Amino acid sequence: MEPRCPCIDCGKETMYTDKEVEEQGIDDIDWYAVHNEIWKKYCPEQPDDYISTPESKGYFLCIKCLETRMGRKLKRDDFPDYPINKKNLHRYPE
Ligand SMILES: [Zn+2]
Repeated sequence: MEPRCPCIDCGKETMYTDKEVEEQGIDDIDWYAVHNEIWKKYCPEQPDDYISTPESKGYFLCIKCLETRMGRKLKRDDFPDYPINKKNLHRYPE
């Protein structure tokens, strides 16, 4: 299946439905948001004010590729307290 929201660097699917997560036991979810300053700096391809959604086929980066661009691992403080991050944060203990 074609990725719906492919990472712009490696092509990995970044978006899974809750059903897929549950059925496939996916743990490394790449559907997340980081603070704006980080995204602006490390995903300069994305124009200002552009909102990436599954419909817009926009600018997605899997966590691994974002970390590669940043040259370091993500940490908990990099993620705002948004609902989109609730499935990720267990990977980043405080
Ligand atoms: Zn990637």
